[in-house]
Amino acid sequence: MSAGLVQAAYIVAALFFILSLAGLSKQESAKSGNYYGIAGMAIALIATIFSPHSQGFAWIIVAMVIGGSIGVYYAKKVEMTEMPELVAILHSFVGMAAVLVGYNSYLAPPAPVSVDAAGIHAEHVIHLVEVFLGVFIGAVTFTGSIVAFGKLRGVISSSPLNLPHKHKLNLAAIVVSLLLMYQFVSNDGSTFALIVMTLIAFAFGYHLVASIGGADMPVVVSMLNSYSGWAAAAAGFMLANDLLIVTGALVGSSGAILSYIMCKAMNRSFVSVIAGGFGQEISISSDVEQGEHRETSAEEVAELLRNSKSVIITPGYGMAVAQAQYPVHEITEKLRAQGIEVRFGIHPVAGRLPGHMNVLLAEAKVPYDIVLEMDEINDDFPQTDTVLVIGANDTVNPAALEDPNSPIAGMPVLEVWNAQNVIVFKRSMNTGYAGVQNPLFFKENTQMLFGDAKESVDAISKAL
Ligand code: NDP
Repeated sequence: MSAGLVQAAYIVAALFFILSLAGLSKQESAKSGNYYGIAGMAIALIATIFSPHSQGFAWIIVAMVIGGSIGVYYAKKVEMTEMPELVAILHSFVGMAAVLVGYNSYLAPPAPVSVDAAGIHAEHVIHLVEVFLGVFIGAVTFTGSIVAFGKLRGVISSSPLNLPHKHKLNLAAIVVSLLLMYQFVSNDGSTFALIVMTLIAFAFGYHLVASIGGADMPVVVSMLNSYSGWAAAAAGFMLANDLLIVTGALVGSSGAILSYIMCKAMNRSFVSVIAGGFGQEISISSDVEQGEHRETSAEEVAELLRNSKSVIITPGYGMAVAQAQYPVHEITEKLRAQGIEVRFGIHPVAGRLPGHMNVLLAEAKVPYDIVLEMDEINDDFPQTDTVLVIGANDTVNPAALEDPNSPIAGMPVLEVWNAQNVIVFKRSMNTGYAGVQNPLFFKENTQMLFGDAKESVDAISKAL
């Protein structure tokens, strides 16, 4: 393939990636967004493999077969509930790739393009800065993503690590890395400076994410997505690959925008989250006596639903664990057939990844037009007869609005308690992801339906 043809293919691939992002922003067009992404990536791979700069064709194929097989195996095996973990670990690969590309480019620098000495020197300095920044961003992304993976999987505690002077430690890591960059560039690429900075960046990435509490994890995952994009863009500069720069910038900026939107949805300051809870007071979840809770049965809930005019279902992580979306769709259809208005209220961080609930409901063929965002439905709870809280907890916790000391204080929540009746589906009185008790369970208009969400909804469906 000629160099011109490769460039043309890269432009087409970049356009496909932009179309992919546009498609993924709406549920209705998400499927075609995926196809655009696949097409763009296929074009990019073919153009790169057959470009005049590529060598070792056989090695590339061997690596692709091994990598592709592992990818297919995991993509088929992974449960929807484990998706954020998979995304986090994939980000760590991008980070490690950027570190390796950086070291490779440092050991075997590209041939200079300029002809005069001044141009060659300038190119060399720029290359050293690219290597340094690429390795730094990649190393932070690598360890940060491993910690996010550990927290989401539950192998690392989800509560924030609070080392003394943690913000000063972060600041020191940045300042020392900047000084090392100065030494690296002025010493014509000192190996010592590069290695020390890499170790600092690994520790910095670890500390940065370990300091962030479980409730802010969604923002962290999307922020690491952004970092992995910038790491890829840095690798693109080092490899002089325009498509990698464009793609990295697209991922980097879309991840940053998503993180910002999520911070707004959770009423968190973006800077405070990425700086590891800067300025947040650490509050211990209060074990205040909450009072008594009331229990109900599937038959009683069926009766209550039959006598309701309007019903709102607010699903959460428990619906995903139980795979209850199919019977939920079944009861929705049964109630709608009886003229009862049924709608869904979706919190932006319900479940374990942005859009988690929307994907599950779409999978079960729940019509899009009755699935509403939190802001669209929050004012309607006072006029609602019955709310079914199916496996949601933190996202319907009134303490977020009422208790300034709660770890989730300030996070906008679905105000389900304003409805006439609230039924909470869960297996025990355990807390949700943020580890805080939920006063909703003890309100007078709330009843608990204990058991696996799928079994409970199945039983209601039968009773209906
Ligand atoms: P929560 O994690 O707060 O609560 C889940 C609830 O589901 C619990 O009450 C649990 O109670 C119940 N549950 C679990 N399994 C079952 C089952 N089989 N049947 C019935 N109930 C079950 O869920 P939310 O969706 O309300 O909140 C999401 C939380 O996750 C937020 O804190 C958010 O910050 C965080 N998060 C969100 C991410 C995202 O991008 N959406 C990513 C990472 C974290 P019990 O054990 O008693 O059954």
